[in-house]
Amino acid sequence: MHNETWDAIVIGGGSGGLSAALMLVRARRRVLVVDTGAPRNRFAAHMHGVLGRDGWSPLDLLATGRTEIERYGGVVTPAEVVAVAHADSGFDVALGTGEHHRARRLLIATGLRDELPDIAGLAELWGTGAFVCPYCDGWEVLDRRIAVLATGPMSPHQAQLLRQWSPDVTYFTNGAELPDDAVAELTARGIVIERRAVAGVSTDADGRLSGIRLADGDTTAIDVIFLHPRVVPNDALLRSLGADTVPGHGGAPWIEVDETGRTSVIGVWAVGNVVNPSASVPVASGAGNIAGATINADLIEEEIQAALAASEAAALTPRS
Ligand SMILES: Cc1cc2nc3c(=O)[nH]c(=O)nc-3n(C[C@H](O)[C@H](O)[C@H](O)COP(=O)(O)OP(=O)(O)OC[C@H]3O[C@@H](n4cnc5c(N)ncnc54)[C@H](O)[C@@H]3O)c2cc1C
Repeated sequence: MHNETWDAIVIGGGSGGLSAALMLVRARRRVLVVDTGAPRNRFAAHMHGVLGRDGWSPLDLLATGRTEIERYGGVVTPAEVVAVAHADSGFDVALGTGEHHRARRLLIATGLRDELPDIAGLAELWGTGAFVCPYCDGWEVLDRRIAVLATGPMSPHQAQLLRQWSPDVTYFTNGAELPDDAVAELTARGIVIERRAVAGVSTDADGRLSGIRLADGDTTAIDVIFLHPRVVPNDALLRSLGADTVPGHGGAPWIEVDETGRTSVIGVWAVGNVVNPSASVPVASGAGNIAGATINADLIEEEIQAALAASEAAALTPRS
């Protein structure tokens, strides 16, 4: 069943996808946004570093964005896209509900998954006591006891960054090797290095983070944890279309896009965390803004060619 044909279908309604949709609906394009409603930052009550919306709830930002899109005639539907395929001169988009829609262009903004280290109690604190981004959540823990949990080669750098927000930073190696130059640099800035293995995190009576439990039974009192989770792009739909990849984060292959979000698959764009793990809310939003305008220009180019072909055909048709 093919329910409708749209100028563009946007898959994923986070800040990247909704920004692209806003540009397209304001250009009088017929746009469907399909979204499962689980943005990466849904665990955090407040977002920061977002000009004009600093401290807002991330979910309120997206709810406002959906209203703006609907005001211009866009349609936002809560569903999962389970498959995409080339069809005619566009794409067939299959929803988990069983519906199928046709689109002339696709914008994929499905974000990524954060995979946390397997440390007891850590997942429950993600977005409330454990964070990834100092610029997003550092100000809220000024001068507090900050733990940085080693998860990869960039972890010492994360500890150095956080030293900007507090003089009380402890770097938990949790069994990972730490090069001599990193030891010297951390120590020089007063960052404590804890080499004992981590067993779990502890919380107070209200469920707030209170410390890191070590394998030998000791507990170190801390107020907040920062770490780099393993990031896994939600790019199965892009891969199913055969989009090219490039070595990206950690050397793993990520979908390749140009500066407008255009992929190697004609008619398909991708923006935000699905192609850029560093994209914050404003960066994902900016990428969506550019992609939306570029998709509109691409549709116009197709319409110019169609109009030319129609006028040439009319000129060749003998008058009766
Ligand atoms: C704990 C935490 C706190 C953060 N705090 C901040 C902050 O303060 N400031 C800041 O700028 N950034 C912050 N970030 C980063 C922020 O989450 C990302 O920058 C932002 O979410 C990226 O937007 P996006 O549109 O690329 O992806 P997302 O916001 O993750 O949106 C992707 C959307 O696609 C949907 N989706 C996925 N697959 C499908 C499918 N198959 N069909 C339909 N829909 C699908 C998802 O449900 C989701 O709604 C934080 C991140 C974390 C983890």
